[in-house]
Amino acid sequence: MNNLQPVFMKLEKVPCLVVGGGKIALQKIHQLIDSKAMVTVVSPEISESIHSLPVMAVTRCYQPGDIDGVRLVIVATDNKRVNRQVYLDTQKNGVLVNVVDQPELCTFYMGSVYQDGDLKVAISTNGKCPSFGTFLRDHIKNMSRGLWGKSLNQLALKRENIIRALSKYSDKKEVMGELVKQSFKKIRKMEKSTGKVFLVGAGPGDPELITVKGLRAIQSADVILHDALIHPHLVFEINPLAQKIFVGKREDKHSVSQESIHSIMVEEAAKGKMVVRLKGGDPFMFGRGGEEVLALAESNIPFEVIPGITAGLGAAAGFGIPLTHRDDATSTLFITGHQCRNKVSQDWKILAKLNTTLVFYMGTKRLTEIVMGLVENGKSKDTPIAIVQNATMLIQNISTSTLGSILKDIKYKKPMTPAVIIIGNVVNYHSKIQKCLDALPSEIVAPIEDMGFDIWKNKAVVA
Ligand code: SAH
Repeated sequence: MNNLQPVFMKLEKVPCLVVGGGKIALQKIHQLIDSKAMVTVVSPEISESIHSLPVMAVTRCYQPGDIDGVRLVIVATDNKRVNRQVYLDTQKNGVLVNVVDQPELCTFYMGSVYQDGDLKVAISTNGKCPSFGTFLRDHIKNMSRGLWGKSLNQLALKRENIIRALSKYSDKKEVMGELVKQSFKKIRKMEKSTGKVFLVGAGPGDPELITVKGLRAIQSADVILHDALIHPHLVFEINPLAQKIFVGKREDKHSVSQESIHSIMVEEAAKGKMVVRLKGGDPFMFGRGGEEVLALAESNIPFEVIPGITAGLGAAAGFGIPLTHRDDATSTLFITGHQCRNKVSQDWKILAKLNTTLVFYMGTKRLTEIVMGLVENGKSKDTPIAIVQNATMLIQNISTSTLGSILKDIKYKKPMTPAVIIIGNVVNYHSKIQKCLDALPSEIVAPIEDMGFDIWKNKAVVA
C-alpha cells in the first residue's frame, strides 16, 4: 500500500543541497534548477557539466555544517558512510532528505515527472520500481502528445473570464466542469483523426544542428522512418518509445524501395499515427522529399516539412568557407553529381562562366568529370576546390587544392563519402581564417555502436 502523500513543493529561491558531483547528482541538480531552487553542490569531485550550471559548487568532502539553513537535501554518492551521515544530520533539524537508491534513508521521493506546459504529472511507485514510473511517464507523454498542455492553457484563459463573470462558487464549478468535458471531447476527436507526417531535416551530422521544431516532432512521434546518415541520438535517444523503421540506403545491402517508404508513411498516418520521416540535411535538397510529399498529397495525408541544414551549408560553416562573398562569388549553386555522368548531361559552359560558388553533392565518384567539364570549358586551373567529408561530425575532414591539381592530389586516397565538393574562390577563406575558427561538432552525445549506422563507425556509406 502506498501511503505517501503527493505534494508539489515551491522551491523557488529555497536553499537546497546536493551531496555528490557525478552523473546522478547532475540529473537531480537539473530538476532542482527547473524549480528555480538555490542549489549548493558539495563533493570532492564535481563534473564539468555541473560547474557550468548556475549552482554554488564546493569541491570538498561533506561537512555537517553544510546543511545549516538548507531546506532540502539530495545525496547522490556511492559512499554508504557519507550517505548515512548526511541522513542522520538532516534528521536532527527535520530537513527533507533523499538518498538516491536508499529508500530507508529518504524522507521524500522525487517520482517520475511528465511536464507539458503548466501541466505536471508525477508518478510514485512507492520506491518499488522507479523504471516502471519512467515507463508510465513516457506512456502518458504519448497519450498527451502535447494536446493536454495546450488544452490546459485554453481552459485557464476561459476560467479567468468565468471567475470574473460568475459570483457563486457552485456555478463556477459547474461551468468549468462542462468546459473541461468539451475540451476532452475535442482532444478525443483530434486523436481519432488521421495522423500526420513530418518530413524533418536532421541536418548534416551534428545532432545539435536540428531545428527546435524538428526536435519537437521527434519527441511526439509514434513512428520514425530514418535514413542511414542520421545520428543515433536523434533516432533512438530522444524518443525511445517511438517505433523505428530504417529505410536508408546501404552499400551491398538490401534497401527499402522509394515506393515502400511512401506506403509505410501513408499506412501509418492513416492509422492516426504521428510519423516522422527523418532525413539527412534538408528534406527538399536531393533527398527525394519532393516525391515523398507528392505521395502523401495523393493519399490525402496531412504533412508538414521541417527544413534542416543542408550538407553544403554545414560543410561551409564548419570549415570557414563563406559561400557568397562580395568580392568572390555573387551566388551559390547546389548541384547533384548524378547529372555529371557524361559530358552532355551538364551545361559545363555555363557553369564554367558563372561567378558563382559550385557545391556538388554525391559528386566524389564523378570528380574527374566535374573537374574536366569545368576546365575544358574555360574555368581557370587555379580555381580553388575543397572536398569536405563527414561535415559537422567528429570525424569531419577537408582536402583543398585547385582544379589543376586535385585529381593528382587525391589519386591514392580512398573514396570519400559522404562528401561535398566546393569549387570557387571563396574556398581560399578556409586557410585564411581556419586558425581562429573554433567550431567543434557537438560531443554531447556519444555515438552508439553497432546500430547499423556506418557513418559513425567511420566506414564508407552509399550516399
Ligand atoms: N538532403 C541532404 C542531401 C542528400 S544527398 C542534404 O540536404 O544535405 C546525399 C549527399 O549529401 C551525399 O552524397 C553528400 O554529397 C552530401 N552529404 C550528406 N551529409 C554530408 C556530410 N555530413 N558531409 C558532407 N556531405 C554530406
